[in-house]
Amino acid sequence: MKYKLVLPLILLVATITSGCNSKQATTAASPTTPTAYDTVLGDSRFERIRLDPDLNGYRVESGNLVGPSGVTGAMVVVKGPDNALTAFIDSDAKRGMLQTDAAGKSTFVPDIDLPFLPDDAIAQRQQSGASGGGSTSQAVNYIDALVGFTTKALAAREVDPKAFALGQLEWVNLSLRNSLVTNIELRLAGIRISEDDIPVTTAGLATWQRELNAQRSHYLHDINVGFSVGGDAAGWAYRPGNSSVNSIQGTSPFKHEMGHNVGGGHCYPNAGDNYKHGYNAGGGFTTNLCGNSRPYYSTPEVRVDGKVIGDARTADMARLWREQAGRLSGYSPEFDGVRLIYVSNQPETSAVVASVSGRPRIGVVALSSEVGPTSLTYGGPGMTTLTVKLMGEDEVARSVNLRAMRQMSNCPRTTMNSTVVCHPDADGGPVKLIIGYSVLDNSELPRGWYNGTLTLEARNDTDPNWTAPILVSLAVLR
Ligand SMILES: [Zn+2]
Repeated sequence: MKYKLVLPLILLVATITSGCNSKQATTAASPTTPTAYDTVLGDSRFERIRLDPDLNGYRVESGNLVGPSGVTGAMVVVKGPDNALTAFIDSDAKRGMLQTDAAGKSTFVPDIDLPFLPDDAIAQRQQSGASGGGSTSQAVNYIDALVGFTTKALAAREVDPKAFALGQLEWVNLSLRNSLVTNIELRLAGIRISEDDIPVTTAGLATWQRELNAQRSHYLHDINVGFSVGGDAAGWAYRPGNSSVNSIQGTSPFKHEMGHNVGGGHCYPNAGDNYKHGYNAGGGFTTNLCGNSRPYYSTPEVRVDGKVIGDARTADMARLWREQAGRLSGYSPEFDGVRLIYVSNQPETSAVVASVSGRPRIGVVALSSEVGPTSLTYGGPGMTTLTVKLMGEDEVARSVNLRAMRQMSNCPRTTMNSTVVCHPDADGGPVKLIIGYSVLDNSELPRGWYNGTLTLEARNDTDPNWTAPILVSLAVLR
C-alpha cells in the first residue's frame, strides 16, 4: 500500500504570484476593520467571505487575501472569548499562524512546510457503518468532527486547541464555499487531548482512527481528525474514509487530507481515469488535492481570473463532495441539540442553549443526581458544581468537578438550574450555559489530562413539552 518514495514533492510551496482575481471574492466581500494582522499581510487585504459571530463562544471568519494584482491567498481568523486571535494565513508571501494574545501582543510563526507524500492517501474499501449514496437535497449535510491533539503537538505549536480546531474546519468550509458546494458544512463535535505520542505516520493514522472511533457513541461524531507532530509527512488519510492525521505545524494539510477522505486523489490521473482529482489551473493557482495552494476544491463550474479551476472528466471534487455528503455526515445520527466544547486552557466556555421569545423560565438540569441537580429551581445568583466521570491517561475514570452557570441576556449569572428572569420587561433573549473548571475544586485529582462527555438538558418551567439536550465535550488538565 505504502510506497516509500522519497520525492522532494513539496506541494505546499507556491512562490509564483498569480495575477488572478476571484469573482466570488469581490462580489461577496465586505470590508473589515484594520487589525494586528494587517501588518503581516503587506499590500494584500482581507476580503471576508464568511463570518460566524458565535461558534461555541468563538468568532470565526474566513476569506481571501487580495493584492493589487488579484487573489494572493486566504485567511481564517478565530477570536476567542478572551479576545485572543488565531489567524491562519496561507498566501504566496506568507504561510503561518499569527497569534495575538488577550493583551494584544502578536507573534507570527511560519508553517513548517512538510511534503505531502505522493501516496499519503491509503486506499480503503467503502466502509459500511455509514449510509452510502449521494445527496442531492438542498438541506445542509453536517459533518461533525471529533478532533484529537497530542500534548506533544500542543507543546510544539502553542495554540488554543479549540481555536485551532475551529480554524482548521473553517479552511474546509471556506474551500467548499469557494467551490460552490453549498449544502455541506463541517462542525466541531468535540476535542480530546492525548498524552500518547501519535505521530504523522500510517501507524499514527490507524491509532487516531481506533481511539476516536471508540468514542463515537459518546460524541456522536462523523469524522476523526488528529493533529500531531513528528512523523514522515504533512498528513495521512484513508481514501475514501473518515479519518486523517495532520501535522500541527501546517495550515493546509487538513483541507488536503479531508479531500482524500472524500475519495479524491492528487492530480489526474493519480486516482485513475475519473473526475476524483484536484486541479492545477496554472499561474500558481492549485486546488486542495493537486498543489493545495488555494482553498478550493476542483470544479469546472468556477472560474478564477477567467481560468476554470476543474474539469468535468478529470477534476471535479465539488461533484464528489456532493455525492459523498450522505456518507460523510452519516457515521453518527445527527445530534439534535446543543454542543458545548470545553478545553481547560480557557477558564470557561459558553454556548447558547435556547433563544426563545417571551419570558421563558429556562434552566439546565443534569440527568443524574450523582452529576448535579436534576430539576429546575427558582434560585438566585451563584453556581452549580457538576461532578463528572472523565477518563485519565491511565484509562481510569475519575470524578472531576466542574462549575456550571446559566446566564439570560445580560442578567447576572445564576445557578445552572435556575429559572430566574431578571428584567421584568425583558423579552426573552439567549439563555447561555457556562461551563468552567478550577483546580481549586479538584485538589485530590492526580495530574494529567481527562477527557469525556457530559449530557445535560435545558428545560422550560412554563412549557414542560420543551426540552433541548446538551452534549458537552470535556478535556480537562489537572
Ligand atoms: Zn495527498
